[in-house]
Amino acid sequence: MYKENKKLIEKLKRWKRKDLDELFIAAHEEVFAALDCRKCGNCCKDLGPKVNNRDIERIGKFINMRAGKVRNNYLDVDEDNDFVFNRMPCPFLKEENFCSIYEARPRACAEYPHTGYPNMQKRLNLTLRNSTICPGVYRILNLIRPEVMD
Ligand code: SF4
Ligand code: SF4
Repeated sequence: MYKENKKLIEKLKRWKRKDLDELFIAAHEEVFAALDCRKCGNCCKDLGPKVNNRDIERIGKFINMRAGKVRNNYLDVDEDNDFVFNRMPCPFLKEENFCSIYEARPRACAEYPHTGYPNMQKRLNLTLRNSTICPGVYRILNLIRPEVMD
């Protein structure tokens, strides 16, 4: 299916920005309305979201810990100089895929898989990669395929 999805993404690269955004946002809403992320948790187990300074402050307030301690206890700096969690599965992932800092989770987590907001043109290659990790993205691509490949 990866090959088919790659073809689909290549075709979508020729779409107008507004049409592309409308297509993805509608499909994202439909797919995630019917999908229970608590039955999956792949993104919390396998991906290392970027954690920015605002995220760190917010998480610190939520768990009642100073930002410096949040950094020491839970974060590392990756090769791009971004903060990421120091281990995966994520240290805040609990039983049954429950995120213990859900209300304060990093923006990158809240926006994942990045198919539900504008500027999809910039994220088409990322979306192809995510289709191998996120069942939601896989379903979104299946849902839009007839409209794109007719
Ligand atoms: S902070 Fe929460 S949503 Fe983000 S990776 Fe960890 S468990 Fe998942
Ligand atoms: S990988 Fe996708 S479907 Fe699975 S928990 Fe993350 S966002 Fe939800």
